[in-house]
Amino acid sequence: MGKHKREVDCSACHGKGGKWESDDGNKVWRPCVMCNGSGKQ
Ligand SMILES: [Zn+2]
Repeated sequence: MGKHKREVDCSACHGKGGKWESDDGNKVWRPCVMCNGSGKQ
């Protein structure tokens, strides 16, 4: 259960590498600060 891969999904973004945030009606991609957008720890 998640221990098979050497790379572990970032716990902050769950491997997504960031999240979409709404900025004045526009969707802006915010890279995760924990993994610098890689999605991996
Ligand atoms: Zn992350």
